[in-house]
Amino acid sequence: MKVLVNNELQEREEVRVDIEDRGYQFGDGVYEVIRVYEGVPYTLDEHLARFYRSSQEIGITPNMNIEELKLKLLSLIEENELQDGGIYVQLSRGVAPRKHQYDVHIKPQLIAYPVPSKRPVKEQNEGVEAITADDLRWLRCDIKSLNLLYNIMIKQKAQEAGAFEGILVRDGNVTEGTSSNIFIIKDGTIYTHPAGNLILNGITRTKLLELFTSKGWAFKELAFSKETLLQADEVFMSSTTAEVVSITSIDGNPVGNGAPGTFTSDIREAFQESIESSIVP
Ligand code: PLP
Repeated sequence: MKVLVNNELQEREEVRVDIEDRGYQFGDGVYEVIRVYEGVPYTLDEHLARFYRSSQEIGITPNMNIEELKLKLLSLIEENELQDGGIYVQLSRGVAPRKHQYDVHIKPQLIAYPVPSKRPVKEQNEGVEAITADDLRWLRCDIKSLNLLYNIMIKQKAQEAGAFEGILVRDGNVTEGTSSNIFIIKDGTIYTHPAGNLILNGITRTKLLELFTSKGWAFKELAFSKETLLQADEVFMSSTTAEVVSITSIDGNPVGNGAPGTFTSDIREAFQESIESSIVP
């Protein structure tokens, strides 16, 4: 496997991470996961815009511009002959003697490499279970930072409970999933938490909102309570890797009649069409 390390492609076995890389020691960095379908990266420009925004928000200047990185990622996909999967891109602040504060001149470290990603077809067809948990993360969830400690704690808790996702609740309101955005449907209207510092504004989320507009489907970016979540007609999650997946049970309680909802199926189909039209040259 070929890995992009700063400006050059290296063999996986040759790549070395320095023990004083701040990404490794402090989680001082940002990342993206980009889905590749039939060799074509989906919503690459949107992911790169978010990547540069995240790095800017924590004061890291990437060592190449967006266009240069885009070309590098395209050649990474080509060199690895990646057809169906994902690309993980990470930027750390760089290598420096361990202390909290940093010298603004240290050289950021960029890595990118293919990661396996398969459409979760079974989950998409059958729906999944979720648990809820208090959202105890920091207040800059809009930054796609390497610090995923609380997200992984709750994802692990979900898995150990036999669930697929953990839905986070802050001050009584549903914010998002540990690695997804959460939507509910009530009386024909779709609701999701507004973008801002309390959630990561998902690229899939943004794409879905565009689709809702073009289809004329009613939606509101409005915070809703855990009680409203539990009384929703349909619930679904969205992310780059999961796409659109129905949540059919929450904390052991069925959502609606406990089967994937028909509106969610329509939404998934619309999203699928958007992917297919992006592949066609
Ligand atoms: N929210 C969180 C916390 C995430 O980690 C992710 C993706 O990993 C998402 C939402 C969904 O974002 P996207 O649709 O860009 O994958």
